[in-house]
Amino acid sequence: MIFSIGPCPVCGDSSRVIFAQNRTTGCLFVFCGACGIAWTDPEAVEAVDSLLFCKEVAPQGIELPTRTEIAAAGLDRLVQEEICDSEWWVDLTDYQE
Ligand SMILES: [Zn+2]
Repeated sequence: MIFSIGPCPVCGDSSRVIFAQNRTTGCLFVFCGACGIAWTDPEAVEAVDSLLFCKEVAPQGIELPTRTEIAAAGLDRLVQEEICDSEWWVDLTDYQE
C-alpha cells in the first residue's frame, strides 16, 4: 500500500506526494513519485522555496512505510489516499536502491 498526502504542488494534480522512509535513518518524509521532489516535513508540502530531491534526502534509498509507522510518527492524519501497489503508476525502483 502506498500512502499519499495529495497532489504534488510542483508538477500538478496527476501526481501524488507519498510517504517514504529513509532506509538508513528510518526517518519519514514525503516525495512526489513523478518529479522526485521531496519534503522532509510532511506538514509543509506547500513550501516550494527550498526544494530537495528524494535522492538527496535518502541517498541510500527508500522504503515504503506502513500505516502503522506513519501513525507512530503522528502523521496519520495527513494521509488523504491509500493506493494499492498494483494501482500505483510510477516506477519507484530507482528510489528504492
Ligand atoms: Zn511532482
